[in-house]
This record gives sequence, structure tokens and C-alpha cells, in this order.
Amino acid sequence: MQTLRKRLADICRRVAEKEFVSAYDGNISARAEENKVLITPSGKPKGEVKPEDFLLIDLSGRLLEGEGKISTESKIHLLAYNHRPEINGVVHAHPIYATTLAATNIDVNQPLFAEALLILGKIAKCEYGTPSTDEVPDSLLPYIDYAFAFLLGNHGAMTISGTVEDAYYKMEKLESYSRLIFNLELLGKKKTISAEKVERLYSIAESTYGIKIDERNKII
Ligand SMILES: [Zn+2]
Repeated sequence: MQTLRKRLADICRRVAEKEFVSAYDGNISARAEENKVLITPSGKPKGEVKPEDFLLIDLSGRLLEGEGKISTESKIHLLAYNHRPEINGVVHAHPIYATTLAATNIDVNQPLFAEALLILGKIAKCEYGTPSTDEVPDSLLPYIDYAFAFLLGNHGAMTISGTVEDAYYKMEKLESYSRLIFNLELLGKKKTISAEKVERLYSIAESTYGIKIDERNKII
């Protein structure tokens, strides 16, 4: 548990250094033993979070250990842990470009970059939900069983994975991909990969990269 606390604090520092959050934004969590979750406390800048600051909560959101307030955004973390036994890490942040796209009608699932198709899969574009209410977790429900990257309508982004480190790398990828989309939309001259080439990429994904892509994560 102590090691996990250190790993989480390290991810918090990286999220802050990358400016994926401002002020008190965002929350990071990881599944600890016996289906408990370690999560950042509410109202603490991510760059200042120390290993001992994380709260231990159960899968229904009850505080088990630690001092501090549980964020209302813990609901979207718990949604992922409750729906997906293979998910052990969740990063929620407000990176500039991903959050920009989350407040547009731009189609983010376009065949533009092979890496994004493999690492992010089909990005969930969630409807806006009123902060602190169940509207926020409810907006993720249609995608929670398969997606790894979520754009939260007019709010921010969330990435999930088997480890909190990989969830963080997915956030880095989502942000850089969003920046590329932003540039391409500005230029107005984008060139997409053909459907045939996308199919080919999917067909070699497992044998070449060891990435098994669920049908629901394919954009074509
Ligand atoms: Zn947020």
C-alpha cells in the first residue's frame, strides 16, 4: 500500500508538471487490495499531494482511512472500478486541448493517427453533466464497459487502464492527439487514413503490438 501511495503521488506530480490541471482540478486514483481505492483528497493542488494524503475509500465511496474530503468526482472513478475488474488506475484532469475538444462538436474519432487508434481506441464523447450530481457518472455510462479515454462534455477528460501509470500515459496521448486534431481543424486540410488501411491496422494490432482491440473500440 505504501508503494502504491508513492506511485500515485508521482503521477500527481507529473499531471501538475504537464499542466493537465490548474488550481485544485483533477483527481487520481488506484485500486488497492480487496477492492479498496486510494484517491486524491478534494481541494488539494495535484503538485502538492504527498503519499500520506491519499484517502482510502471502498467501492461505494465510503471513507475508510485518511483525513480530508472525498471529491464528488470520485463517482466517475468508482464507476470505472465497479464496471471493469481489469481497471486499476484512473486519471481525471482538465488538459487544455482535450478539454477544448470536449466543448465542441468536432468528431474526435477520425482515422488520422495509427497510434491513437491503438492506444486510445474509440474516444467516448460524453454529454455535459452538472458537477457533483449523478449526471456526471451517468454521462459515462454508455461507454464505460469498453472505453479507455473519455472527453467529459464542457468539463475535462478521464483515462483508465490496468495501472495508474498507463492511465497517465493515456492522458498524455489523449492530450497530444487533441492538440493535433485542434491544429488540423485550424488548417482545414486534413487527410485521413483509408478505411481499408484502418482495417489492416486492426488486423495486425494483436500479433504485432499485443493490443487486443474490442469491436466497440474500433472507429470503423
Ligand atoms: Zn473535473
